[in-house]
Amino acid sequence: MTGYFSAALCSAVAALISFVPAAAAAECPRKDALGTSRVLAVDPASFPRVGLKSFPQTLPLADREVVLTFDDGPWPATDRKILAALAQECVHATFFLIGRNAAAHPDLVRRMAAEGHTVAHHSFAHPNLKYMKPEAATADIEKGIAAVEAALHGTASTTPTTPFFRFPYFESTPATLETLQKRGIAVFGADLWASDWIPMTPAQQLKLLTERLQAARKGIILLHDPKSQTAAMLPAFLRYLRDNHYRVVHLVPAGAKNRVRQSTLVH
Ligand SMILES: [Zn+2]
Repeated sequence: MTGYFSAALCSAVAALISFVPAAAAAECPRKDALGTSRVLAVDPASFPRVGLKSFPQTLPLADREVVLTFDDGPWPATDRKILAALAQECVHATFFLIGRNAAAHPDLVRRMAAEGHTVAHHSFAHPNLKYMKPEAATADIEKGIAAVEAALHGTASTTPTTPFFRFPYFESTPATLETLQKRGIAVFGADLWASDWIPMTPAQQLKLLTERLQAARKGIILLHDPKSQTAAMLPAFLRYLRDNHYRVVHLVPAGAKNRVRQSTLVH
């Protein structure tokens, strides 16, 4: 690739990414909170697949910028703590929800959205879609989207409000990836895992995650909100981010920036 072409490509990509300015600091009652530093609008046409653990491309994050993502909720027992910790630090995250959990706890789905978080999709029943026929995989994905949309809006729709999807176990197939791309749904991997499916104490969890972050320096972080060790360590992790000058980036779908009412604090 020539330098000229490379530069042209970079500016083209930059033009496709909208940066939404942070809202007034007054929205966060705590002066020393971590805060959300900026909102990044993601266009699936430009970023159909992101997350270096699974794909060659990821989001354009600067050094020390992180995106907080939580999989497998909603899960009342732990989400109360998770949402409280995020609210305490005035940060916004993305929740990749399982449809059947959303159907069981629609109030919690609406609370996530009402508190300014991004509500994304993670299948209906959390199967390994890689080992299903493409039609069955698509059906489970659509059922999951419909369950989350029904919880959010009272009406089931297979067109997601937020066109972000993460495969259970990161197990995709070329056919399903192509289907999602054609439908304008961005597929999220992650850049950095907490590996919180492995049982450990909250202190061990915090140590593992912060060590990995020190090595990676930035990225999309994968956490699981139903995990009690994650809920327990989250307040300390958010303090760690603040004390070590990391900045939290909140993802929204492109075109939705005018819908972002609650946001963000620059510290
Ligand atoms: Zn999952």
